[in-house]
Amino acid sequence: MSPGSGKTMVARRIPTLLPDMTRAESLETTKIYSAMGLAHGLIDTRPFRAPHHTISTAALIGGGSSPRPGEISLAHNGVLFLDEFPEFPRAAVEGLRQPLEERTVTIDRIHGALRLPASFLLVAAANPCPCGWHGSRARECTCGPAAIERYRLRLSGPLLDRIDLQVYVRPVPLRELRRPEPGEPSAPIRARVAAARDRQLARLRPWNLRCNAEMPSAVQRATCKLDSLGERTLADLVENRRSFTARSIDRLIKVARTIADLIGQDDIDAGCLLEAAAYRDVDPTADFVPQVL
Ligand SMILES: [Zn+2]
Repeated sequence: MSPGSGKTMVARRIPTLLPDMTRAESLETTKIYSAMGLAHGLIDTRPFRAPHHTISTAALIGGGSSPRPGEISLAHNGVLFLDEFPEFPRAAVEGLRQPLEERTVTIDRIHGALRLPASFLLVAAANPCPCGWHGSRARECTCGPAAIERYRLRLSGPLLDRIDLQVYVRPVPLRELRRPEPGEPSAPIRARVAAARDRQLARLRPWNLRCNAEMPSAVQRATCKLDSLGERTLADLVENRRSFTARSIDRLIKVARTIADLIGQDDIDAGCLLEAAAYRDVDPTADFVPQVL
């Protein structure tokens, strides 16, 4: 995102769109905060954690000489916002891989490993270049081509493969920020999200799962049926996007399932799949690097 596109404002709004915490979620999150001496009573609102990019790997992932939960566990059942994502230390970013797949983190200790919950919604934001103005008409970018290339390379690879929704956000002109008519308020969006979550809960109850993101492959195959045009569309997408891995196809289907849930549809049709694919349509080598959200 370019400077001035309001990324922190967007990120902070996300927890307000999520359903209320269930009793079980409240207890899980409170337990982690209690272990850190940070809980004052039951935590019943979803956490929003936004650590700075100078954070150490141990503080982000967990661990250290006397092992403590990291920011990813403090964000359990909530949102972890990493602004200036490419500036985070490589080791810390690599450390996000396992938790993003397994929703838990394993911390090595002298006497055996410790497993902590770390099921969070990752929101990562990046500028188009180190100074932030590449591709903007408002101001000139002062970065050289080599610096831009290095910056973009940090965004590519296996971690990007685990980010399901990648959105490119242009700076918002001041006159639009001052526009009298506001965008859609949180309440109706929240109601749509809650209805979609209810559908997921009902469908996934036999497996004791709460939402689409938690589905292992076997459950996904059993519950995410594509109609015949959907099957053909998926085959075309895989054929045309060489960068699709088995993992990204799995994740694509989960996002398509969620889109179908949001519009109250039983089957995943071609439209849901194409919309899900559009959120993966990010090419870090493109002239103007899209932002990761
Ligand atoms: Zn620049």
